[in-house]
Amino acid sequence: MLHSVGVAQPSAARHILNFDRSGFKAAVHAFIDGKTGDIWQTLPWTMRAWHCGGAANDTHIGVEMCEPDTILYTSGASWIEVNREKTEEVVSRTFDTAVELFADLCDLYDLDPLADGVIISHSEGYRRGVASNHADVEHIWREFGLTMDGFRRAVAARLNAKKVVVKVPEAPKQKLGPHEWAEEAMRRITELGIMKGDENGDLRPRDNLTREEFAVMTMRHHDVLMREIAELWKLIK
Ligand SMILES: [Zn+2]
Repeated sequence: MLHSVGVAQPSAARHILNFDRSGFKAAVHAFIDGKTGDIWQTLPWTMRAWHCGGAANDTHIGVEMCEPDTILYTSGASWIEVNREKTEEVVSRTFDTAVELFADLCDLYDLDPLADGVIISHSEGYRRGVASNHADVEHIWREFGLTMDGFRRAVAARLNAKKVVVKVPEAPKQKLGPHEWAEEAMRRITELGIMKGDENGDLRPRDNLTREEFAVMTMRHHDVLMREIAELWKLIK
């Protein structure tokens, strides 16, 4: 789950100091610094954190993007611009880092970033009924044409770009004939009708024998022998 801190404070270190005290009733797995784009991990990814005030705490890693100090919150999630250029610089920096981090996490936990509910913002979590009623991250992003759908696509693109797909061609199935030492026996066993080809007429001389093939061939051999014994018997009489 992607968050935006909701305070005009770009320093991850300052947020970490604020969170790191007894009685502070929230925790996230990482902060993304607004000025440097550095990722500060504050919990193991596998540990449950109280980051969204809902059931997604049980299922989602929470990451906070720090916000530019060039905005001024007026009320709730509303803010005004002080320096658009600097604001956009911080917003796109934290966006880019979040793309990298989320792609790495999807890679680590074998998650599909485009699958429903895998990557969500805090506000999407609220709409899904798994988080408290907060407006992040879209309350900042919408000013710059950034969306969660765009974010998920960027994560997917980065994840796919990282994966080098090596295709190994399947070895062509060579139809090998019998080894030289078996040629004579193969010729005679087929002449006697003990071994016949498969449904394609292929003798498959180098394949393994199944128990049913063994049974069929042994019985054919038995029949051949019995016929020969009968012929001999006639001659003797
Ligand atoms: Zn949040």
